[in-house]
Amino acid sequence: MPVYKRKEGSDTWHWCANCPDYPKGENVTSRQSKPEYGKFCPLCELKEKTGDCKQDPLFAGLK
Ligand SMILES: [Zn+2]
Repeated sequence: MPVYKRKEGSDTWHWCANCPDYPKGENVTSRQSKPEYGKFCPLCELKEKTGDCKQDPLFAGLK
């Protein structure tokens, strides 16, 4: 189950840690389930489709 993250003040959810727009640091809202409001990041959707979606724990500390 992916973790969905959204930066405060934005209504776009991200769930791939390797998304260039993945929210980091302060003022980030996370959810364990699929949010029922807001928008889903098209880049994360593309990564999921191509099997390139990296989850947060694996990716933490890299970069
Ligand atoms: Zn994204």
